[in-house]
Amino acid sequence: MGTGTSQGVPMIACNCAVCTSADPRNHRTRSCIHVVMDGLHIQVDAAPEFRLQCLREKITQMDFFILTHGHADHINGMDDLRRFCDLLGGTALTVYTTDEGMNRILSIFPYAIAERPVSPGYAAFKLLQMPEKLELPQGTIRSTLLPHGGINTLGLIFEEKSSGKKFVYYNDCKRLTREAVALAKEAEVVVLDGLRVEPHPTHMNIEEACAAAAEISAPICYLTHLTHRIEFTEWSKKLPAGVLLSYDGLRLQL
Ligand SMILES: [Zn+2]
Ligand SMILES: [Zn+2]
Ligand SMILES: [Zn+2]
Repeated sequence: MGTGTSQGVPMIACNCAVCTSADPRNHRTRSCIHVVMDGLHIQVDAAPEFRLQCLREKITQMDFFILTHGHADHINGMDDLRRFCDLLGGTALTVYTTDEGMNRILSIFPYAIAERPVSPGYAAFKLLQMPEKLELPQGTIRSTLLPHGGINTLGLIFEEKSSGKKFVYYNDCKRLTREAVALAKEAEVVVLDGLRVEPHPTHMNIEEACAAAAEISAPICYLTHLTHRIEFTEWSKKLPAGVLLSYDGLRLQL
């Protein structure tokens, strides 16, 4: 749904070649994804553009929500989850996250911590700790903590029961732990934080992400959370085989 870094691309008041590019693949809303696993609809993070992303991608269903961490670019769209509380019949939407994520939700959206919306059309969240392994009739979602500066991000591994296919989403991290690499093995598709060319204290840059992709040896790796320093066509040619740039609106059928 979104593949941009926290400032988005175009960035405010920037006239660089990427920010002024006519190629829609150089226009990046803030990062979040929607996963459909054997008919189960799971939203991971809610970017500030979440409402616009839902309209663009025609998202009409959500069974639960996972917040990877409490940074503004992943949490600020959560009020717009209210529509999915309506669509669930006026009940609270289940939200899985970490302690850090819960504390941020409690401080930003205290009005939404309720069993059902206070009034029709309001948001209501039922907060639950994301387990290491969430067993569902449609498959399994595993989680692992990824270092992201002073906090940890939830890395997520989706395994669909009917197809046996595995999809991995490791956004917003400085490096992958041994456990994260092991859990990502044999995935059909892995998504990694790739940010930019220059090193960054809390994100992997392109070089670090390519090294992580090689360590996992996934057949297809998509880089996300990209800044305005990454021109789509230019960088697509420079990346190693099997490593690709993601873009807003990208749909993957595993
Ligand atoms: Zn972020
Ligand atoms: Zn720019
Ligand atoms: Zn972050």
